[in-house]
Amino acid sequence: MGEKADWASWKLWSLPTRVRVLVLGVSLLAAGVLAVAARAAPTAEQWVTAGWLAAAALPHLHASHLIERRRRDRAGTPYVDLCSVWIFAGVIVLPLVLELVLVAVIYVHRWALVNRFDAVRPAHRTVFTAATLALAAAAAAAVLQATGVQEHLAGGARPGWADLVAVVAAAAVQWAVNTGLVATAIAWTVTVDHPRRLLGSASDNLLEVSQLALGVFVAVALLWWPPAALLMIIPTFALHQCVQLDQLKLAARTDQRTGLLNAIAWHDEAEHVLERTRGRIGVLMIDLDWFKRINDTHGHPVGDDVLAEVATVLTRAVRRGDTVGRYGGEEFAVLLPDVDEAEVRAIAERIRVRIRALRITAPTGEPVTLSATIGAALHPREPGAGLDEMIRAADDALYAGKKAGRDRVAVAGR
Ligand code: GH3
Ligand code: MG
Ligand code: MG
Repeated sequence: MGEKADWASWKLWSLPTRVRVLVLGVSLLAAGVLAVAARAAPTAEQWVTAGWLAAAALPHLHASHLIERRRRDRAGTPYVDLCSVWIFAGVIVLPLVLELVLVAVIYVHRWALVNRFDAVRPAHRTVFTAATLALAAAAAAAVLQATGVQEHLAGGARPGWADLVAVVAAAAVQWAVNTGLVATAIAWTVTVDHPRRLLGSASDNLLEVSQLALGVFVAVALLWWPPAALLMIIPTFALHQCVQLDQLKLAARTDQRTGLLNAIAWHDEAEHVLERTRGRIGVLMIDLDWFKRINDTHGHPVGDDVLAEVATVLTRAVRRGDTVGRYGGEEFAVLLPDVDEAEVRAIAERIRVRIRALRITAPTGEPVTLSATIGAALHPREPGAGLDEMIRAADDALYAGKKAGRDRVAVAGR
């Protein structure tokens, strides 16, 4: 979610040109679709249905805003609103012009609500989100029109399997258009370490698909018993709270100072990897040398900066699939699956050299000299040795390395 948060906070004029073109293009296209759709006048009954949807969506926005204000205090993450529930219901039961009006009403309202508290949020972000959703909804509506579902439902017929397949296809199209446009904007704005991250996490997508599924139920209610649609505000609110739970779980596993796994999470993860790995496994215990002196000489905040820098060095020096954690104050642990002794030595040495090469300057201008001692252990040295034995062996090696003069790699049993 980090990239999403980043690009969203950029000012429009500071975005790369092609992203500016994308944002403007998507917005103009949405406006064009609205102009074309507005040529067909909705019936009074359709206006009433749209009114029911707005009557559910607006209180929902207020309720979700309460959750978002609390949630975003803790994490710099994108605003979650779960409005796809109402928007997808609208795709099924509303003519396109009213659907687009609904999207506009929801996002103007959301913009006003959010900006009362958070005035720095750039407006282009909300315009782009709304325009993207409008285009996604128009594409989904086209699927329903082509398959005759809208006509079928409007005629009062009881929907069957074929209609359900068409609705699922429409949901897939809505998801693809929305995700595709947002992923393009992100890819053109920030560098992402892995293309798959552009599509959002598994739980982001589960959340999106859940909204689309709930939207189908809202549509069914609107066709048959409109006031019942209001009840969907409750499960939507509950779903929203699950987002918060997910983030709390993540926060509970993360060391706030370095962003690495904390000791408990590292241990859990290492146990997990240990069970799955067939080859040999290495453990590194990394302890910064004379760290107390750094604090004493340059101050605690400089010590904190050093820890964050070392964390970055570690994540870059290990291989994909290695597990890095902050094990204690100035102590870090790394699990290395499928290695031999030469590789363990090579990785440990790479880490040691890179920590030594770090150039950190204190606010006084003085350079901070830094080194680390690394203890390494390999499993299975003796059959039945578990993670705790390996950690103990690596710790003993670390201690021996400290005694032998620091700034070195010491391997257990050597
Ligand atoms: P050695 O080479 O023997 O490891 O010496 P050392 O000074 O690194 O070891 P010692 O265990 O005596 O001191 C560790 C220091 O790390 C003490 C503590 O104040 C500091 N420390 C622990 N956590 C933090 C932190 O989060 N921030 C800062 N700035 N310092 C921390
Ligand atoms: Mg220590
Ligand atoms: Mg130390």
